[in-house]
Amino acid sequence: MSLLDIVQHPNTVLRQVCGPVTSFDDGLRKLAADMLDTMYDAPGRGLAAPQVGVPLRLFVMDVAWKTGAPEPMVMVNPDVLEASAETVLIEEGCLSIPGIPCPVVRPSTIRLRWHDLDGKVTEATLEGALARCAQHELDHLDGILCIDRIEGAA
Ligand code: ZN
Repeated sequence: MSLLDIVQHPNTVLRQVCGPVTSFDDGLRKLAADMLDTMYDAPGRGLAAPQVGVPLRLFVMDVAWKTGAPEPMVMVNPDVLEASAETVLIEEGCLSIPGIPCPVVRPSTIRLRWHDLDGKVTEATLEGALARCAQHELDHLDGILCIDRIEGAA
């Protein structure tokens, strides 16, 4: 296992639109494993590749481990297929912007399609903390930070 350095705002890699993952190889597996280790060590519930300086469309998350058994997820080349009209205001945090709480309004439920580490396509409807965390990490892949979406900000 290796811990990676977490890139801090305002590093410009956090503002890039990331490119798609094209090879599902051992390098990708190692990156995902190291990202999970780094996320657990931080400690956090989600980490996107640009946050470790890699501008690829990939993130890891685990919204369960802080209160129960770990449920690590790796999402490669994720796409939102549908988002609920219903929204919810939740305060988010970001490992790249420590100590800054971000109250953000987002859809409460999304339908997401992604590739796993073998390149297999999966689809699921995400709700609650999963939906919230995934949307925060998805933003990272497009160079968007939660501070950009703070409720009431100009
Ligand atoms: Zn973040």
